[in-house]
Amino acid sequence: MTTTYDPDSPSYFDAEDVHEELDRVFDLCHGCRLCWDLCPSFDSLFKLIDEKTNGVDVKLDRSDNDRIVDECYQCKLCYIKCPYVPPHEWDLDFPRLMLRARAARSGGKPASLTDRFLGATDLTGKLGTAASGLANAANRAKPVRIVMEKTLGVARDRKLPDYANKRFSKWFEREGAARAPDKEADAPRATLFPTCLVEYNDPSIGKAAVEILGSCGVGVNCPETVCCGMPSLDGGDVKGFIEKARRNVEVLAPHARAGRAIVVPQPTCGYVLRHDYPDYLKSDDAKAVAEATRDAGEYIFELKKQGVFKAEFTEELGNVAYHAPCHLRAQGKGLKGRDVLKAVPGTKVTLIEGCTGIDGTWGYKAKWYEMARKVAKPMVERIEKSEPDVIVGDCLLADTAIEEEIGKRPIHPLHAIARALGMKGEVAGE
Ligand code: SF4
Ligand code: SF4
Ligand code: SF4
Repeated sequence: MTTTYDPDSPSYFDAEDVHEELDRVFDLCHGCRLCWDLCPSFDSLFKLIDEKTNGVDVKLDRSDNDRIVDECYQCKLCYIKCPYVPPHEWDLDFPRLMLRARAARSGGKPASLTDRFLGATDLTGKLGTAASGLANAANRAKPVRIVMEKTLGVARDRKLPDYANKRFSKWFEREGAARAPDKEADAPRATLFPTCLVEYNDPSIGKAAVEILGSCGVGVNCPETVCCGMPSLDGGDVKGFIEKARRNVEVLAPHARAGRAIVVPQPTCGYVLRHDYPDYLKSDDAKAVAEATRDAGEYIFELKKQGVFKAEFTEELGNVAYHAPCHLRAQGKGLKGRDVLKAVPGTKVTLIEGCTGIDGTWGYKAKWYEMARKVAKPMVERIEKSEPDVIVGDCLLADTAIEEEIGKRPIHPLHAIARALGMKGEVAGE
């Protein structure tokens, strides 16, 4: 049995070795139980061990181990909670062990056609934006969705984010880059990692970033990057993930070394840059990128503290329900976008804690759709109870799931900040 999270280790993909490691970790978790209420994975782990073992000789059969692995949707919250993560001698990283187990099962390649499809965000994004009318109509057409479910495994009832009719990078090239010119040689500059969701689905989030930063004299760079690789990693394709990570780090490292913040307006992608790139690439460049990475709300909060962002709010937002995505909480930097909104006059922010069950790609899979909705239920009830004037959430995928449940579209914290600053139109989420 080898405890490793490193795909370069000779045992990383060894299925026998992985199951022995799962036995070791499940035994430790069974004794600890701190994560009893976190997710279906732990629920199954404790129930199966209680039912099927005497609690002393803790060892499940392989299909039970696989079930626990598959029910993990990679929210990362157990990692934050666990007292035994590296460098503890138990070296326990539950989410990364689940990823290792998936990668070992599929030989480091996409585990299924569903994973291959969900991992191809740049390809589907380019096609979807090139023919957005057709793609969006198809995504809403029941017969198409039934075929998609049968062939690609994407849940037929899951609302998919619409494609934009123009990619963010195209707007940035023509208009955005000129919005916040370096007025002075020493003016601060930030580098935007737009993420696929902003690039292909909701460019207004990126535009809001450019407008808000421009309004306080911060110039924005937006070099050409690719998908962060999270869907590949989640789907067992660790090799595909590493390839994407290398490409992005090569582009972003010079920006990090030039002292620029790398601003990420989606929490999952930010988590991947911050935690997974240095873990999987182990290079100084990846570490430099991780250190420079900031969630968009966190960066504006920092600028506010430095007096660069003046927070001259003119509009009240009323009763705001702010959904805290798991992958933002797991970054360990607090909820800074929420904190910026708390300073808006005439605004009451209610924190909505709770998972939407999406977590990247998991909640899109037909296999997990009903379970994901069950995971989301307490969060939905909290939002409804708060009777919000506006729902705010950082994660576009979580926001789409909230819209699916509640029928009201959340806006991004950048939209809400732009709105409070008196900006109008799409940058204000209108
Ligand atoms: S990462 Fe999240 S879903 Fe996976 S085991 Fe941990 S708490 Fe559960
Ligand atoms: S992941 Fe860590 S904190 Fe959670 S149950 Fe296992 S040992 Fe305990
Ligand atoms: S996590 Fe972000 S960058 Fe990564 S695939 Fe998803 S949207 Fe794209």
